[in-house]
Parts: sequence; C-alpha cells; structure tokens
Amino acid sequence: MRAETAVRLLQAAGVRRVRFEIADTHGIARSKTVPLERFTHDVEHGVTLYGGILLQDPRGDDVPLPPGPRPDFLLRADLDTLVVLPHAPGEARIGGDLSTTDGRPVEADARRVLRRVLARYEHLGLVARTGVEYEFYLLDAATWAPVFPDPQVYATLRNAARPDWRDDLLDALPRLGIDVSAFAAENAPGQYEITFAPADGVAAADQAFVFRTTVKEISLRHALHAPFMSKPFADAAGSGCHLHHSLLDARTGSNRLAGSPDGPLSTLGRAFVAGIVEHAPALCALLAPTPNDFKRFRAGAFAPVAGTWGVDDRAAAARVVDRDGSGARVENRLAGAAANPYIAVAASLAGGLLGLQAEREPPPPGASGPSLPTTLDVALDALEEDAGLRDILGDEFVRTYLLVKRNDVARARAACADYATDEWRRRVDDWERREYGELI
Ligand code: GLU
Ligand code: MG
Repeated sequence: MRAETAVRLLQAAGVRRVRFEIADTHGIARSKTVPLERFTHDVEHGVTLYGGILLQDPRGDDVPLPPGPRPDFLLRADLDTLVVLPHAPGEARIGGDLSTTDGRPVEADARRVLRRVLARYEHLGLVARTGVEYEFYLLDAATWAPVFPDPQVYATLRNAARPDWRDDLLDALPRLGIDVSAFAAENAPGQYEITFAPADGVAAADQAFVFRTTVKEISLRHALHAPFMSKPFADAAGSGCHLHHSLLDARTGSNRLAGSPDGPLSTLGRAFVAGIVEHAPALCALLAPTPNDFKRFRAGAFAPVAGTWGVDDRAAAARVVDRDGSGARVENRLAGAAANPYIAVAASLAGGLLGLQAEREPPPPGASGPSLPTTLDVALDALEEDAGLRDILGDEFVRTYLLVKRNDVARARAACADYATDEWRRRVDDWERREYGELI
C-alpha cells in the first residue's frame, strides 16, 4: 500500500491524526502524533525523534554519558503496521524502524535487531512464528488496589470484576488485528491473562507491543492502571510474557520443530530447545530486563529458576507443548511481562538459533540446567560474555543495552541500600513500582 492510498482509507475511517510510535530500550511506547495532512510527507521523509531516545532511564532522564551531540533519528514508518485505534477516536497508529538522518539503520533499535535475527532464520529456510502470552495486573489507578482481592484463577465473577473495561478491551483488540483466543483472571489478586493468535516474523512483536499499549491506554480510560512490571507485589505471582515458538518450513509451511516417533520434538526442535536452556543465564539479561524481574524467578510460582526444559512442565524455562494435533511448539517461560517485546522475541530466537547452528542435543527433560542469575547485574555480565548472542544480536545493540541496563542497576543500588540481599529479593519496594510500574 502506498501512503496516498492509506490517506484515503484513513479519511474514510474518520481519522484526523496519526501516531508514529516506537519502543524505546525499555519497551516504553514513545510516539509523535501528526495531523493527517502531514502523513504522506512523514511516511516519505521520516519523523524526527531525539537521538538519545534509546539511551534513557525508565523515568525519562538520559543515561549519564560524556557530553556530546546526539544527532536526531528518523522514524521510517512501516505501512504494514498502520491501524485505526478504536479506543482513541479519530486517531491511527503506525510503527517502524529508526534511521540516522543520513539514512543509515540505527543498529540499537530493537525492531531492527529482531529483523536481523529473523533474516538468519530465513537464510535457513525457516519462518519464525511466535505467540506472545501476557499476564498483567489490573489496579485502581489512584490507589494501586487490585480489582479483586484473591488468587481466583478463571473465576467467572473475577473475570467480570470490571465488565465495562473487559468489553472495551476485548472489542478493541480484534480491530487492531489482535485475534484474542482467551481472556481470564489469573492466579493472583487483580491479575489477568490474555492470549492471542501467533504471528510470523516481526508482526508477532508488533502485535505484542500494540497489545501492551492498548491494555494500558484502555485501562486508563476506566481509571484503572495496568502495570506490566514483572513482580509488582512480593507475596503474589509475577507476570510472565511466555513466548510460544514454532519454526515453519518457508517453502511448505510444515512445522519443523515437530517430532519423530520417539518424542514430540524433531532433531531441529531439540537443538532449538538446547540453545535456549544453554544460554538461559545470558538470555535473562534480555528477557528479565529490570532488577525487579529477578524476584519473579521463584520456585513453586510457575516461573523458572534454572535453564531446564520439559514436556508440559510449567516450572521449566522451556516447556514443550504438543496437544492440538499441529505438532509441538516450544514455550520460553523466562520472559517477564516487563520485557521489550522486540528484544524478547529477538533474544529467544537468538538463543534457539545458537542451538541450531551448533546442532546441539539438550540434556534429558527435567535434568538440572544452569541456575538462573539472581540479579540483573549478574545476567548482564553473562550477556557480555556470550559471544554467540552478541554476534547474532549485534555488538552495537548489546553495547547500548548494557549501558542502559547497568544504569538501571546503579539506580536500584542507589535507591535500596540492601540491593541484591535475600531480604531485598523477598520484598518489592514502592521505589520499584514508581520506576517500572507506570509506563512499562
Ligand atoms: N505467573 C507465572 C509467571 O510468572 C506463570 C503462570 C502460568 O503458568 O500461567 O510466569
Ligand atoms: Mg498464565
């Protein structure tokens, strides 16, 4: 579709403005809204954004760096991502990739990182299909009180705790191209889970990103707040972002992860799992991206504590699901809801790819694997040392990421005198909720 055609369709839909939107390093949605009259120009020339946008802390301050110019970026819109926003009358949204003003790609842009990883799969004749499964809390926007008080998973009356909110959300998501498969209360006070159809390539992360922003925005319209931080309350379940991977043969569409007579996974599928479990400690830096995330990794909470795998094992880092006749898929359960969806999908696929490239065989299902780091700084060190992941994700991205995330660690250390102690790991502070609870 060309920009002029898009403008005619947008006019017919009553759209007057378009939001040009990207995910920053934390996965926070940042956008500029332009009048429809500017749309064609801005699609053709790009929208100018502050060149330090990927180098900020979650509160919006620049990461401390030597002074110097930060040349602007251009957001180059991708017309495939254009949608009319049902919950924001008269407004549409479009995503895209970042370039420098002289037309070079910005290597630290997470959407670009994901596309580079996907290209490696295409080179192997594989299409990566991903289903992103989010859990999140729903709270009173003013008091942060959960909308229901108990861990009543699936309880019909808890599902209907805020019926107007639920109806607005479930009506809006399909109109954004997000094909919801299930909505239910989860296993914690005020926690919900929504699953939606998987998508191929970058579209999976585009959808997850739009999903997250839409949930937050519609919640605000109901005076509710939907934090996607991974562990908002110490004594209740964390919020996961489970990634369901399939690898399809680019030519035939067949499921290349699916098994042989001796098990649910093919040789390729086993190598994919082996890559994820072997690189789990370094992957945590990308899939559990805040100091708070490491409080989610707790035994007995359906969250992983080591790089393990198993068939239908909810305590494992990688769970093989094989039940609807279409063959096995691999669910990476490491990611917390706070993860930047572009980085999460890219990282998980990069881990799997390292297994494919090395033709790895995983340890037996259920065997103990590498322990997960207990703090973000340890995970960041593991990422820095993982030459395979650095190569696939790109050195420039990893350098930027380490800079931003080590700054997150420094902020946590400055705010909490007992950072990284057992006592600190057992509680969640208001500071964390302020730092990660609103825009993420
Ligand atoms: N809330 C759990 C997590 O932190 C997952 C629960 C489930 O298996 O749905 O990942
Ligand atoms: Mg769940």
